[in-house]
Amino acid sequence: MTTAGTTQLINPATGQVLAEEVNGTDEAGTDAAIDRAHKAFRTWRTTAPGERARLLRAFATKVEQNIELLASTEVRNAGHTIGNARWEAGNVRDCLNYYAGSPERLLGKQIPVPGGTDITFHEPLGVVGIIVPWNFPMPIAGWGFAPALAAGNTVVLKPAELTPLTAILLAELALEAGIPDGVFTVLPGKGSVVGQRFVTNEAVRKIVFTGSTAVGKQIMAGCADQLKPVTLELGGKSANIIFDDADLAAAAAAAPYAVFDNAGQDCCARSRILVQRSAYQEFLERFEVAVQGVRVEDPTREGSEMGPMISAGQRATVQRYLDDADVTITGSVPDGPGWWLPPTVVTPRSVADPVWREEVFGPVVAVLPFDDEDEAIALANDSDYGLSGSIFTGDVGRALRVARGVEAGNLSVNSHSSVRYWTPFGGYKQSGLGRELGPDAPYAFTEEKNVFIAH
Ligand code: NAP
Ligand code: MG
Repeated sequence: MTTAGTTQLINPATGQVLAEEVNGTDEAGTDAAIDRAHKAFRTWRTTAPGERARLLRAFATKVEQNIELLASTEVRNAGHTIGNARWEAGNVRDCLNYYAGSPERLLGKQIPVPGGTDITFHEPLGVVGIIVPWNFPMPIAGWGFAPALAAGNTVVLKPAELTPLTAILLAELALEAGIPDGVFTVLPGKGSVVGQRFVTNEAVRKIVFTGSTAVGKQIMAGCADQLKPVTLELGGKSANIIFDDADLAAAAAAAPYAVFDNAGQDCCARSRILVQRSAYQEFLERFEVAVQGVRVEDPTREGSEMGPMISAGQRATVQRYLDDADVTITGSVPDGPGWWLPPTVVTPRSVADPVWREEVFGPVVAVLPFDDEDEAIALANDSDYGLSGSIFTGDVGRALRVARGVEAGNLSVNSHSSVRYWTPFGGYKQSGLGRELGPDAPYAFTEEKNVFIAH
């Protein structure tokens, strides 16, 4: 592989440089890999569906056998807690097993027409380019490559520069499982080089991008030149709406984990909490206890609930939001090196405050009261984003009214679940375009072909 400089990787929990050095792929190396993926597509698309299914299951088994290696690598490279990292590796396995069911079930239609027979086919696109951010390197990669491969596409994948190690391991496991060379290729390197080439190289027929809204817009604009389809999973500023008829103890106990998990570096983070005024004081008292109880610890330790931030730069970005904010609750943080920031609760002065409007992408949550259902929905929707949201209430009618009223792709009632591989995931408004996961994901990696046969 041609190189374009090496990236120094740092353990975010300790500040120590990792032994692994990863060579960045340059433009020529990217083109060569896309060309290999293009050639591999000819045989992968015509591989019998049952054989493609078997290979995806074999890949899942390899992931299962290497959960501890993948998880410990993510802990070192990204600072994820060991518990989360094991779940993330398991999620890749689960996605592969789930989508291993689809090559044999990619059904078309027979449509009644006059004068003949009409049938449809779901045909793979070709080479799919997947661009992955640093916040959930394994799951976000798997949500793209598992359904794309299942539908008969080949994949080139660019991990974030900061977190390439687990993606590189996954590509090795695919080869060990018997997935043919060129079908799934991981290309570490810069977004502006490798990612940009995915956009401009005509052999790449679709882009799946997860990351910032700003870069997502650039990618969509770049793809317009070739009418290249895109799936975009972008930022969020999701609301956790708590009504006075909710189980307040349960709502307060769950709220910290809905925003401080992964140190708040989560596109689904419920970073705005809206509490009905009549329950506001009681909620805040209970919430303070819950925030103080979050175990912010060495992420290698079993039971650690929150690790460090990904980088010094990301921590500085988040700190700038706090410099001018009214901080009401601060959680704990370990002493010593690493990019740590404590769980932090702020009260915005108005809904114009950047900390209320912008995706902070760190362990920071802003809390405001509301008076009634209409105001709660209006406040939740007063955002450019629309990814996720939660509703805590004891009234099932209200739960459904508010869930239908909030402009977001993934709502959760009396819980904070948003990403489950069985169900569709994606954003409204500037949180994204298209859906990942769920039973229909493979279709997003196909063209629908219609064939009419005259009688
Ligand atoms: P980013 O720049 O959007 O990066 C996401 C991915 O896109 C990375 O793999 C990146 O590569 C690549 N990329 C960057 N510029 C590109 C370009 N011009 N063409 C093609 N690919 C490109 O995100 P970030 O800079 O890491 O984070 C900035 C902010 O984005 C965060 O603070 C957060 O608010 C938001 N964010 C959201 C999510 C999410 O899940 N929605 C995830 C991450 C970040 P490099 O690694 O080489 O830059
Ligand atoms: Mg960036």
